[in-house]
Amino acid sequence: MSQATPPVTGPLHDAQEQLAAAVAHLGLDAGLHQLLATPRREMQVSVPLRRDDGSIEVLSGYRVQHNFSRGPAKGGLRYAPQVDLDEVRALAMWMTWKCALLDVPYGGAKGGVALDPRAYSQAELERVTRRYTSEILPIIGPEVDIPAPDIGTNEQTMAWMMDTYSTAMGHTVPGVVTGKPLSLGGSLGRATATSRGVAHVAVLAMNRQGVDPRHATAAVQGFGKVGRFTARFLAQAGVCVRAVSDIDGAVYSPAGLDIAALEAHVDATGSVRGFAGAQALDEDILTLDVDVVVPAAVEGVLTAANAGRVRARIVVEGANGPTTREADALLAQRDVLVVPDILANAGGVVVSYFEWAQANQAYRWSAEDVDARLVDRMSHAWEDVTAYAASRELSLREAATVLAVERVTEAHRLRGLYP
Ligand code: NAD
Repeated sequence: MSQATPPVTGPLHDAQEQLAAAVAHLGLDAGLHQLLATPRREMQVSVPLRRDDGSIEVLSGYRVQHNFSRGPAKGGLRYAPQVDLDEVRALAMWMTWKCALLDVPYGGAKGGVALDPRAYSQAELERVTRRYTSEILPIIGPEVDIPAPDIGTNEQTMAWMMDTYSTAMGHTVPGVVTGKPLSLGGSLGRATATSRGVAHVAVLAMNRQGVDPRHATAAVQGFGKVGRFTARFLAQAGVCVRAVSDIDGAVYSPAGLDIAALEAHVDATGSVRGFAGAQALDEDILTLDVDVVVPAAVEGVLTAANAGRVRARIVVEGANGPTTREADALLAQRDVLVVPDILANAGGVVVSYFEWAQANQAYRWSAEDVDARLVDRMSHAWEDVTAYAASRELSLREAATVLAVERVTEAHRLRGLYP
């Protein structure tokens, strides 16, 4: 357990700066600022792994619980090579604001293991997941901290976590994770929830900017759990999705990609690269000549180096933290509307909340019910943020953060400080 020391660059620096601006706007005192800036609990663990060849490798794992004021901590588990404590701290803080903004009864958390999942077999990933889960077991639970999938993890990862936790408890505990397979109590609509929300707010943003979705063009960076279905839902809304990318490359078609055919190609080959219905794209997908760009891969991709060349009128942040502070300022100068991550990609945590509620009720809601409730919550959050931004002359990111910080602060004030 340790105190967060803010770094000078990177996602944690950006997250801390966003918080500082919100604190200044709300006129909160230094003590409250410190309380909001400091994770409530952090755990760093070694994850020893026996590789399939018998050798042993020791990986680093993290779980950061930023805040519990509004309820149990909630946040994804990331498997990626660059994962470190500061990245996880930033993501945990953003989860706190996201949950408050969408008014789901959670605080924020995030976890990670530094590894490239593509370099490990399924059996190895299962051993990593079970060992990591058993290491962080004392600080997770359906009323404590509820992990979910993020980059490099999926519903199978959640099934292993749920089984490991349940074995230790001596009974099945479906509410310990969300994003589980349907057959283990997952929610209908959870797999597509983040993307449904991203596409929904993208359409709301287009309406606001006077762009007709049926005549709009878009580019989506990342074709994983978020990017793939975002491209699908945008296409379903009539948007011409001209380009998508993944870690291996990008594909482009001026007339619009056939998303269903592209999905089939990705299922068969594991990448968008080489898709026959498009040409390879060598330039930066984020500066393509389209109306809407959706970064839906990793953080820190819109920077001072490329933000000045963004030609889209709208950026919808499917990923967490894709826009650096410097890039944000450049985009604002050029009147590009940025729909911030904590609003745009909150659909996942909303349906995670629905999944948790269903687990607690032991009752499954229909897909139509889940999707309708999700869209309703996203629309309300959009209205809250846009109205707040207009009334206080803030950007959407500033408004979303200030509104969320205000809600968390209210919870702190009502609960008081123990002892
Ligand atoms: P994922 O692992 O399923 O997919 C990530 C995708 O990004 C893959 O297609 C990968 O190839 C691609 N990618 C990685 N680096 C890239 C690069 N440099 N350029 C282009 N593509 C690159 O992960 P995901 O769950 O889709 O998460 C994507 C982002 O959305 C992350 O920032 C995550 O925190 C955020 N997010 C995810 C969820 C969720 O429900 N999964 C919810 C909210 C936010």
